[in-house]
Amino acid sequence: TGQLQGKVVVVTAAAQGIGRASALAFAAAGARVWATDVNEAGLQALSGEASIDTSRLDVLDNAAVSAFFEKVGRVDVLFNCAGMVHGGTVLEMPDADLDFAFDLNVRAMVRTIRAVLPGMLERGDGAIINMASIASSAKGVPNRCAYGVTKAAVIGLTKSVAADYVAQGIRCNAICPGTVESPSLESRMRAQGNYDEARAAFIARQPMGRLGAPQEIADLAVYLAGATYTTGQAYGIDGGWSI
Ligand code: NAD
Repeated sequence: TGQLQGKVVVVTAAAQGIGRASALAFAAAGARVWATDVNEAGLQALSGEASIDTSRLDVLDNAAVSAFFEKVGRVDVLFNCAGMVHGGTVLEMPDADLDFAFDLNVRAMVRTIRAVLPGMLERGDGAIINMASIASSAKGVPNRCAYGVTKAAVIGLTKSVAADYVAQGIRCNAICPGTVESPSLESRMRAQGNYDEARAAFIARQPMGRLGAPQEIADLAVYLAGATYTTGQAYGIDGGWSI
């Protein structure tokens, strides 16, 4: 549709799931897209797409993040999509899991935001979109302690960046999906032993009676990239889970 014509968009975790759907949706909206991930084989499948460049980027690696954004130069839209689910209650949460969850789900966003903000501020224009979850400060979900803690922190980070730079042309919003079809969700369902039962349980918690599609979340990311009167918000997109 061309509403992002001429914009440069960077997507993290774009090899599969919501990140991949978003890279394609941004390109379809006219943007020049950098699709990044640690999974190079997954990125390969995107490399033939018009308006999409792919690059390996491990968002846990400070030096790699700096080097990548130096190479890219101007970034108009940053979609921080990388994140991972840990299972377990507070009593079943090893410190190592919590540390890792903070590093990937939160600090990685701090790294990429630090890398793009100076340029955005120079131009007085930029949109940052952070992937949170309904499992966060929006809703307590059983057995998702490290995940809920860190996704709540993503919303805090989002509001903090939004508040600091609202008068300087920077917008920062978070997306809070419910349960969305993705390769990692598939493996979580398989890991539970009885796949059909696990799938039915995930669907049962969605009042709409179905899982979300990555494309539905990607459409919201594209909307937020161009939605010039909204910042600091956490957008629920959850099939009614949080009604
Ligand atoms: P996914 O979990 O299937 O894929 C995640 C991708 O992240 C993979 O391609 C993986 O290689 C990449 N990745 C992992 N570590 C990385 C690193 N260090 N650097 C760069 N990339 C790395 O995809 P998904 O389920 O669509 O999840 C994407 C995001 O959406 C995550 O932040 C997740 O928490 C969030 N989310 C997903 C759901 C859901 O139900 N699927 C719901 C709410 C929020």
